[in-house]
Amino acid sequence: MKIDLHTHSDRSDGTDSPAVLVEKAKAAGLDVVALTDHDSTEGWREADKTAKRVGITLVHGIEISTKLDGRSVHLLGYRFDPRHRALVAELRKVIDGRNSRLPATLERLQGLGIDITTQDVRARSANAAATGRPHVADALIDLGVVKDRTEAFDRYLKPGRPAYVDRYAADLPTAIGLVKAAGGKTVLAHPWSRGSHRVLTRDRIGALAEQGLDGLEVDHNDHGAEDRAALGQIARDLGLVRTGSSDYHGLGKIDFPLGGNTTDPAQYRRLLDL
Ligand code: AMP
Ligand code: ZN
Ligand code: FE
Ligand code: FE
Repeated sequence: MKIDLHTHSDRSDGTDSPAVLVEKAKAAGLDVVALTDHDSTEGWREADKTAKRVGITLVHGIEISTKLDGRSVHLLGYRFDPRHRALVAELRKVIDGRNSRLPATLERLQGLGIDITTQDVRARSANAAATGRPHVADALIDLGVVKDRTEAFDRYLKPGRPAYVDRYAADLPTAIGLVKAAGGKTVLAHPWSRGSHRVLTRDRIGALAEQGLDGLEVDHNDHGAEDRAALGQIARDLGLVRTGSSDYHGLGKIDFPLGGNTTDPAQYRRLLDL
């Protein structure tokens, strides 16, 4: 049984529609795929229809943009009530924060002599719940300014670079509490990628486990063999579920193919109480 619990459609910053993503998941030989768009559940309905048609299990999920001690941490949530009021309100704040900083980002780029407009970016986020930095990166590619998203982040968009503008993110323990209150399960996404290893120490993960965290995404392309061994040990010691996933984004992230990392069936059943 092949299980991939972390993918993105064009409802956030992936490039496939939810329907196409699910079709590709089936074609890649997956038995279970979770759709985990950033801060949005908008893709679930379309994905459900296709999953039924092609015969694959779709897990409803999300990847929430949170902060811990000022650092960005991504939280995966699964099988929660998408109408839970407090959770919906918190997701709205993240989405609004992402949308409302776009003008400032574009002003910074224009100040650097780059002729980029809102329309250029919206052309790349037409189906998305919010317009984020990956869409700005895509517009910069279209304009011939950079060759890929990585170069756009490295030169302009990541913290410390000239077009970076901060936005709202949910407090991590609060976000865990909200997903749990909505009846869902929580997993730290790629816990040791991009600087989050500085805040997600073993002790910190232990404290989060006491606050209701269910699992760690150990097997992810951002983690090398040593990180996977250490995180796997932490998961075992703390009784957390160990997941593995692709973090597929279509053409938005190269070398993250569907099923590129997978979750052990026993861990999947434990996570979702099957
Ligand atoms: P935003 O929510 O608009 O701040 O954009 C955050 C998204 O950009 C994340 O979900 C990542 O998928 C992507 N991202 C963040 N940092 C980088 C990076 N250094 N290179 C490529 N993509 C990144
Ligand atoms: Zn993403
Ligand atoms: Fe992420
Ligand atoms: Fe992701």
